[in-house]
Amino acid sequence: MKTADAVVIGAGVNGASIAFNLLCKGLKKVIAVEKYLLASGVTGRSAAIIRQHYSNEPLVKMMKRCLEVFTHFSEIVGGHAGFVNTGWAFFTPPEVAGPFRKNLTLQRGLGINTREISKAELLELEPRFDLHDVGQIAYEPDSGYADPHLTTTSYIQAACSRGLDILQCTQVTGLRIEHGRVVGVKTPNSEISTKIVVNAAGPWANRVAEMAGLSIPIVVSREEEILLAPPLGQHPPRLTVSDMAKAIYYRPNRGRVLVGRGYPKDYEYVNPDDYSEDVRFEFIEDVAHRMISRIPDYSNALVEHAYTGLYDITPDWHPVLGKTNVEGFYLAAGFSGHGFKLAPAIGELLAEEIVDGTAKGIDIRPFGLERFEKGALFRAAYGGNRA
Ligand SMILES: Cc1cc2nc3c(=O)[nH]c(=O)nc-3n(C[C@H](O)[C@H](O)[C@H](O)COP(=O)(O)OP(=O)(O)OC[C@H]3O[C@@H](n4cnc5c(N)ncnc54)[C@H](O)[C@@H]3O)c2cc1C
Repeated sequence: MKTADAVVIGAGVNGASIAFNLLCKGLKKVIAVEKYLLASGVTGRSAAIIRQHYSNEPLVKMMKRCLEVFTHFSEIVGGHAGFVNTGWAFFTPPEVAGPFRKNLTLQRGLGINTREISKAELLELEPRFDLHDVGQIAYEPDSGYADPHLTTTSYIQAACSRGLDILQCTQVTGLRIEHGRVVGVKTPNSEISTKIVVNAAGPWANRVAEMAGLSIPIVVSREEEILLAPPLGQHPPRLTVSDMAKAIYYRPNRGRVLVGRGYPKDYEYVNPDDYSEDVRFEFIEDVAHRMISRIPDYSNALVEHAYTGLYDITPDWHPVLGKTNVEGFYLAAGFSGHGFKLAPAIGELLAEEIVDGTAKGIDIRPFGLERFEKGALFRAAYGGNRA
């Protein structure tokens, strides 16, 4: 039987960041158990857009720290995150002007470098946009996107150099609980004796929680993305954009344009172990048309590739973090389609929660599992599903 100071279940970007930060906080022996391969869950399919525009103070504060880490990744973590500082723009429809400005006031008050810009200013940055349906534009010059595989492998490499043991192709099949506290993790071939277990199992997190007798209200949705090759003589947008007016997001991707469908939209709920990875033709057509109506110069763009991924969605679209009523069993799950960018802060805060007894940097208690029972849900400025 192996022993460990802590076991992290899942080696997506959040599990990787948590494992790294636990070792930085002084734990000597951490084991990450991954049922398949690094970043093979949601993380590997992520658009990995990094913006700080959130409606709630703790998430804004987390994102301020995350951007610092992405910007100085090689000094803070080691290796590379593939961060590209394109600047991020947020296009909103006229009817959300009130919440939009309230959010900007909150963010600026917390020290975020963001501001509202005019259409003329935006067109100086990217003249090809047709902005007729846009009401307001927020601009974060320091934001952009990163590489989700590279970020995860860099965290894992940095953790390995501090003593991480990573078990890939190894599924956690059970937890050993004695007198209300976790004492071990079971896999098909072995058992690990440990007093600390972190559930960072993404869309499978509820299955892992059930092993501890808990239930996390997560539903899993199927998501689709396309890669557009711009027509000859055209290039990808210079900016990374979340475009609520067209309900899409897009960013440059090595000479191509990565485009996905954003809020508001309908969701297709699936079983994470049994869903279609085919991308529907109607999705490709719809998203491509939305993109072309924003950049008419893309009318002859070629859809080069398309793929699917999963969101692990909680009732308020905010993650579930921190300790549970099973001693030693911690949650970092339910990231609801925006958990790539949060990973640097999640790792630091969970490591504080575990090693120091409480997350000191930012109060994560409002993210606890009990909020669903208490009805203490987060609210987002733009309605239910936009954190
Ligand atoms: C199409 C798409 C676009 C996105 N775009 C963005 C974006 O622009 N910005 C952003 O911030 N976020 C984005 N996201 C969301 C973001 O990618 C995720 O929230 C984040 O990657 C989740 O990481 P994770 O580590 O929590 O989960 P995962 O990456 O899913 O990792 C969980 C891991 O746990 C493993 N596992 C599960 N069960 C077990 C078990 N029993 N034993 C061992 N291992 C187990 C899985 O194999 C998996 O590798 C997007 C998601 C999708 C699908």
